[in-house]
Amino acid sequence: MKNLHIVGNWKMSLNKEDSIALANNIKSISKKEYLNIEVAPTSLYIDSIVKILKESDVNVISQNFDYKTLGSYTGGVCLDQLKEMGVTKTILGHSERRSKFNESDEQVNNKLETVLNSDLDVIFCFDSYEQIPFELIKNNLQDNDNLKLTLAYEPTWAIGTGETASIDHIEEIHTKVKNTLIDHSLENIPILYGGSVNPSNSKDILSSGNVDGVLVGGASTKIDQLLGIVNSI
Ligand code: PEP
Repeated sequence: MKNLHIVGNWKMSLNKEDSIALANNIKSISKKEYLNIEVAPTSLYIDSIVKILKESDVNVISQNFDYKTLGSYTGGVCLDQLKEMGVTKTILGHSERRSKFNESDEQVNNKLETVLNSDLDVIFCFDSYEQIPFELIKNNLQDNDNLKLTLAYEPTWAIGTGETASIDHIEEIHTKVKNTLIDHSLENIPILYGGSVNPSNSKDILSSGNVDGVLVGGASTKIDQLLGIVNSI
């Protein structure tokens, strides 16, 4: 069995009480050897969720970051603060950041360069092949053998809509990306799929060629659905 990643993006969907209840429910998930499970709570509650999941098999990651170090950036979150909380990875470039917070490709790519040169790992979301800055990645990724960078294909039309991409479509995009990664000698970078993943479709998606895992929004905020996805493979 290949290594697989299941990443839950809680977005801004849960209040503190519900976030803590969910974390308490998932802390007893014991992962299979080939599974890496991560959840991304809102940054406001990261500290509390890290404490709950500290001894568990589930890692806590961030949904986003703004800058690398401390500074005068009102409302911002920096990588050094996340590291201080015990967080070792962040999502970047989620389509909701791009569309609802107006983060441009240029801003996202600048942040990608920042995080690739930091101590944190990153999941870079893209909704089309053209959005992946392969040259930037090649120039800033020191080591192709670790999990410093993960890519996540998330077609915008499939996010939160209940409309999942077909397996053929997912395989087509993932294979195209994988082939370009191979051309750049970056073939070890995992590629996740995200967009209305649920317990009914997760097995087929996770078994698809060149799919190394799933990035899950809505279904990851409900314990029975998250468990359903984890247990589907
Ligand atoms: C997401 O937020 O990354 C996502 C894929 O959401 P959903 O699973 O709800 O479509």
